[in-house]
Amino acid sequence: MKTPRLERRNGAAIDKADIDAFTKDFQGQVILAGDAGYDDARRIWNASIDKHPGMIARCAGVADVVHAVKFARARELLVAVRGGGHNVAGRALCDNGLVIDLSAMKGVFVDPDRRIVRAQAGATLGEVDRETHLHSLAVPFGVVSRTGIAGLTLGGGVGWLVRKYGLTCDNVLSCEVVTAEGEVVTADEETNADLFWGLRGGGGNFGIVTSFLYRAHPVSIVLGGPILYARDQAGAVFRNYRSFMATAPEELTAYAGLISTPDGTPAVAVVVCYCGDLAEGERVIRPLRGFGSPFVDAVQPLALPAMQKLFDDSFPDGTYNYWKSTFLKALSDEVIDLIVEHGNRAGSPLSGVVLEFYGGAAGRVAPDATAFAQRQAEYNLGITAQWTDAAEADRHIGWVRGLADALAPHSSGGYLLNFVGDDNPEAIRGAFGSNYARLVELKNKYDPTNFFSLNQNVAPRPQALRPAREASATPGSRRKIAE
Ligand SMILES: Cc1cc2nc3c(=O)[nH]c(=O)nc-3n(C[C@H](O)[C@H](O)[C@H](O)COP(=O)(O)OP(=O)(O)OC[C@H]3O[C@@H](n4cnc5c(N)ncnc54)[C@H](O)[C@@H]3O)c2cc1C
Repeated sequence: MKTPRLERRNGAAIDKADIDAFTKDFQGQVILAGDAGYDDARRIWNASIDKHPGMIARCAGVADVVHAVKFARARELLVAVRGGGHNVAGRALCDNGLVIDLSAMKGVFVDPDRRIVRAQAGATLGEVDRETHLHSLAVPFGVVSRTGIAGLTLGGGVGWLVRKYGLTCDNVLSCEVVTAEGEVVTADEETNADLFWGLRGGGGNFGIVTSFLYRAHPVSIVLGGPILYARDQAGAVFRNYRSFMATAPEELTAYAGLISTPDGTPAVAVVVCYCGDLAEGERVIRPLRGFGSPFVDAVQPLALPAMQKLFDDSFPDGTYNYWKSTFLKALSDEVIDLIVEHGNRAGSPLSGVVLEFYGGAAGRVAPDATAFAQRQAEYNLGITAQWTDAAEADRHIGWVRGLADALAPHSSGGYLLNFVGDDNPEAIRGAFGSNYARLVELKNKYDPTNFFSLNQNVAPRPQALRPAREASATPGSRRKIAE
C-alpha cells in the first residue's frame, strides 16, 4: 500500500507547508500518517473498516470545524465527518482525504428546569445519559451507550423510549451547524427551518452539526431487562411477542431476537423497557414474563443509564461487522418461520437478528414533518453479523445477505437509515422514501457540490439539470435565494 497522504480529490498531493499553515491556526489535534497516534485515531468500532486518511483534524471547538471546512473546500479534499465512529459502513473515515473528527467535543449542559440539554456532537449516548440522569431526565437515544449522538440523531434514532417519546430526532429543538461553505448557522423551527427539517432524519448530508439542543423527559428508573428462552422455542416466543405488542402501552418498548448467551448457547430473547410507573409496569409485563419456560428472567428496576448499557458488551470495539435491516410489510407466521430458519444458521455466536417494534409516539409524527419518512411500518428486522477472524468475512456477510434476500418479498421497501450497512443506493433511497425528492432540493440548496458525500448520500442534481438561477448562484447569493 502506498503511504497515506493528504490529497485533492483529483489525486494531487497537498504540500507540507500548506498543512503546517493549517495546523498553526488549529486549536485541536492534527494527526498525520506516521504520527504516533495515527493508527488509534483511524480506528473505529467496526474492525472491517481499514481506511487511511491523509489528515485527521480532531477539533477542539466550532472554530476548528470552520477552519477545517474552509481548508478542505479551498483544496477540493475528500471529507469525512466523525462523531462516535459507530456507523457500520465506516462513513466516519476516508482514504487520503480529511477526517473532521468531533470526538473531542463532548460538552453536555443540562437545564433541569426547562428540561433541555445542549450536547456537543462528539458526545456518546452514555455521556449524555450520565448528565441527564443526575436530574432524573433522559433524552430518547439508541441502545448501545458508546454510539455517537451525532450520527444517531441525524439518522433518526430509535431506542428504549421510542414508543413513549419518539425518535431521537423528534426531540431535537435546535442545531448549531457549520455549512459546506464554513458558515455557522442555527437550524430550528424559526431559523433555517428547511435545514432543520433535513437534519432530522436526513443524515450528514447538509452540514456538520456541532451541537444539538434536545428536549429531555422525566425518566429515571425503568423496568427493564431480558427474558431468555431456549432457541427451539423461538417461533412460539416471536408469535407471543407479536400478539403482546399489538396492545402494549406506549410506555413499553420491547425487542425480540435470536442471540447467543455469553457462553455461546443459542437463545431467543425478549428485552423490555417500561418507562412509566414501576408498579404499573410490573402489571403490564406480567403476561409476557408468564409465557413459556424462560431460563432467565432478569427484568428488574434499572437506572436508565444501566438499561442503556445492557448490550454494550455484546458489541465490543474491534470485532468485524456486517449489518443489514429492513422494515417488514407484516410480521406474518411465514416471516417468523423464515427468520428462525435462517437465523439458526448464523455462523458466529456474536451474530444475531432482532425484531424491533416502534409505532407509538414515533408513528404519530407525519412522514413529511421531518426528513425521517419511515413512520408507518412498525416492525424492523436487523440482521447483525459479528465475528473475530478477518478470514471468515465471506461466510458471515453471505449469511446476512442470504437472510436479507429471503426476506426481500416481505420487505416494505423501507429501511432504517441508521442501519443501512453498506453503500447500497437502493436501501438509502428506500430509507428516505417519500421525502427523497425534497431532500435532493435541500441538497442543491445547502451542498450543491456534494462536499459532504461520505454519508448516506443524497446526490445533488447535476448542475446542468438545475434551474439557471440556482446553478449560477454564488455561495452568498445562494443564501439570498433561500430567503
Ligand atoms: C453497536 C451499535 C448499536 C447501534 N444501536 C442503534 C440504536 O439503538 N438506534 C439507532 O438509531 N441506531 C443505532 N446504531 C446505528 C447508529 O445510530 C449509526 O451507525 C450512527 O451513524 C452512529 O453515529 P456515530 O456518530 O457514532 O457515527 P460516525 O460513524 O461517527 O458517523 C457516521 C456518519 O454520521 C454523520 N455524522 C457524524 N457526526 C456528524 C456531525 N457532527 N455532523 C454531521 N454529520 C455527522 C456523517 O455522515 C458520518 O459519516 C447502532 C450502531 C452500532 C454500531
